[in-house]
Amino acid sequence: MDKNLIVGSNSLVRLENGNSVHYINFDNAATTPPFQSVVKEIVEFSSIYSSVHRGTGYKSIVSSMIYDEGREIVLNFVGGNKDYHTVIFLKNTTECINKLSYRLKDTLQDKIVLSTYMEHHSNLLPWKYRYTTDYIQVDASGRLCLEDLEFKLKLYKGKVGLVAVTGASNVTGYINPIYEIAKLCHKYGAEILVDGAQLIPHSHFDMRPVDSPEHIDYIAFSGHKMYAPFGVGALIAPKKVFEKGFSEQVGGGTVEFVSIKDTIWADPPEKEEAGTPNLMGVVALSTSIKTLQNLNMRKIDEYEKDLTRYALSLIHDIPGLILYDDMNVEEKVSIISFNMEGLKHNELATILAREGGIAVRNGCFCAQPYVQRLLKIPDEDVEKYMTNQSLSRPGLVRISFGLYNDYNEIYLLAYLLKEISQNLDFYKNKYRNSPFY
Ligand code: PMP
Repeated sequence: MDKNLIVGSNSLVRLENGNSVHYINFDNAATTPPFQSVVKEIVEFSSIYSSVHRGTGYKSIVSSMIYDEGREIVLNFVGGNKDYHTVIFLKNTTECINKLSYRLKDTLQDKIVLSTYMEHHSNLLPWKYRYTTDYIQVDASGRLCLEDLEFKLKLYKGKVGLVAVTGASNVTGYINPIYEIAKLCHKYGAEILVDGAQLIPHSHFDMRPVDSPEHIDYIAFSGHKMYAPFGVGALIAPKKVFEKGFSEQVGGGTVEFVSIKDTIWADPPEKEEAGTPNLMGVVALSTSIKTLQNLNMRKIDEYEKDLTRYALSLIHDIPGLILYDDMNVEEKVSIISFNMEGLKHNELATILAREGGIAVRNGCFCAQPYVQRLLKIPDEDVEKYMTNQSLSRPGLVRISFGLYNDYNEIYLLAYLLKEISQNLDFYKNKYRNSPFY
């Protein structure tokens, strides 16, 4: 796809040998650079810039309309139902899941929340500390065990209130069969939250009709992983969840009426968005969604799968390269994690950056229980390994492609990985005292 869609796609970076090369960004699972269309829209919109839902000035009215239109754009993007769902704009996926975890406290009282061993900490910690939780196992290749899900749904005999599962792993890219999971959840009286942070930017998603047993009850995602800037995310959920009680954060914008004695809360979603909202973030997110829709999510998915297939075909048999991947590209987004025998993850990441201008991510990617399983670290050793702040802390190297990456970039990565594998000691020594370690 066209690189010019992206801001900064022509950046240069200086290598160890003094040459300047095109910067190759393979860290899109962390954050994607913004679309040109997004930046252009933000600049154009700045002349309208004004506070939302405050006052009758022309700019404020236009700002409010655009902000509310953003909810429609998001709802349409995820196939939600305007009579049934509400779209709440928050900072990111983490804030969305924390809000949901807080607002479900009455419904989930005395219930069990099932999360999984493959979650990002953002879909694990908000449940772990508020509810009785259990975790669905992953198999030897890191795929979620549906048998274990059904086993646990049966075991707890109708007590599971929610299954909080990622749409796609930020470590392996594995896509979970969310509609099958939804069907199982509903069969046993549970709801399903999909953490959409890694799924939504890469593939067509649909919540499905609310009367379908396969519908998704809740979805959350972040703008900064889908070519909008930091600071905006969306939670789409049934309105009724927010009708009772009030938000964990209260203040301006959340009320109809306040006296010292009484408070009449606004309806959702306003009730859930305390303080002046992030209008520029919503303008950016709306534009990134429109751009993704114009490009066509199915085509993006296909293209990124081709990139992933190509990368796996080039790197899978490099001597010493350990892949954490079952190579089933149809069932994953464009993320690949690996290690190289004889190098620590941080050494390999440093060499790729300094020798090839290739930006990757290394470590545990805020998914420590999952990385622990992929690395087959026994439970009894986990604390010793994971809390070790020294350089030997375990981890992986992750590459993740965006829609603007291309085959040449992947070829260069594979070329460099082969070169490193053949000259391991040379590169290890060269970067032994690197401050980047
Ligand atoms: N879930 C997944 C699967 C993620 O990859 C991430 C970001 N790495 C998050 C949640 C959290 O997203 P944010 O930091 O935008 O809240």
